[in-house]
Amino acid sequence: MKRETEWTQYEPAPGDAHAPSATPLYQTATFRIDDGREYDYTRSGNPTRRVVEDQLARIEGGSSAFAFSSGMAAITAACALVSAGEEILACVDLYGGTYRLLSQVATRQAVRVRYVDTSDPAALAHAFNPAPKLVLVETPSNPFQNVTDLFRLCDLAQAAGSLVAVDNSLMSPYLQRPLSCGADLVIHSATKFLNGHSDVTAGVIVTNDRDVAEHIGFYQNATGTALAPFEAWLLARGMKTLPLRLDKQQTNAGLLARYLRSHPLVERVHYVGLPEHPGREVHERQARGAGAVIAFETGALARSLEIVQSLQLFGITVSFGGVRSTASLPARMSHASIPDEVRTDRHFPDDLVRLSVGIEHVDDLRDDLGRAFDALGDSTRGLTTARAVGSHDVPN
Ligand SMILES: *Cc1c(COP(=O)(O)O)cnc(C)c1O
Repeated sequence: MKRETEWTQYEPAPGDAHAPSATPLYQTATFRIDDGREYDYTRSGNPTRRVVEDQLARIEGGSSAFAFSSGMAAITAACALVSAGEEILACVDLYGGTYRLLSQVATRQAVRVRYVDTSDPAALAHAFNPAPKLVLVETPSNPFQNVTDLFRLCDLAQAAGSLVAVDNSLMSPYLQRPLSCGADLVIHSATKFLNGHSDVTAGVIVTNDRDVAEHIGFYQNATGTALAPFEAWLLARGMKTLPLRLDKQQTNAGLLARYLRSHPLVERVHYVGLPEHPGREVHERQARGAGAVIAFETGALARSLEIVQSLQLFGITVSFGGVRSTASLPARMSHASIPDEVRTDRHFPDDLVRLSVGIEHVDDLRDDLGRAFDALGDSTRGLTTARAVGSHDVPN
């Protein structure tokens, strides 16, 4: 079956006497307890959520899936596979909220955390001595699009007895299926591409490993972090059109990345779809598209701020993956929870602009960017060094 077909051709309501075309919303907390009934309490299981979870398992190529109330709830559940005294190895470039969880929550539970640039083959080769319990990576990473070789990582991890979890939010299972590269868990912020309409916060874990599935299922029920029925219903609806949305978003993003690269006021573009991207070859072995998120540098924070503020179609918001295009300054927004000194250490530029490209007509998006560059005042046009503009700080 072709991938596009998989997204709509599934049983929307298994066992339902009325054979509805769409999944019913079982907006109920409890079920009458009779012999042989499958559900008793929605925290533990709900038919609407089950349909979404089964569909997620199918499209990621896993045997079990778990839907959570947010991406962070899913990552928290994955981190709970690691006990006090054991270690998590994480890639250096990570979503800011994940960094916050690892540095301020996991470490308080006496879990050790080590950061390695897993996109660097030499660093990766030495990363398993000593062997961590769990490896957590994003590839391409957010926002720099560093690419980790998943086949190599999973080979090394398997030899060392470590579990591998891949945060696949930036790609979605339409473009990349980490379980097929040997990963043990795939995690999503389903708030992003999977839902795609900016109206749900949700998270996902998919796995092929029976022990992992048992642990995650237990943890989800024990901590009460499962996705609520209405959210699951919206997610099921959003997911059906993911191939359609992402094909369009990705085409738009490829065109805009090339436009930005040729613009004299842009210093650097981070997009794994560009031929000169250092991770492109590895990425093409493990994924089948570059996605719809682009980051670029202008050389000056004041200039980036002015551009982002004068865009009209790209709304200034955090998050990505929705049908409407958005723009953000990661250092001030999605990654503001990473302390300044850590960002400086990691050469995280303040002037980085991240675009999430939507389904609008690409000519309109390009015109919007062009107007924003043209409107740059003389004062910022000539700037060459990044400066702090504190009054514009956006809280995370
Ligand atoms: C947004 C995001 C998360 C967190 O997901 P929420 O749904 O916001 O809790 C985790 N990982 C990545 C890569 C993200 O972009």
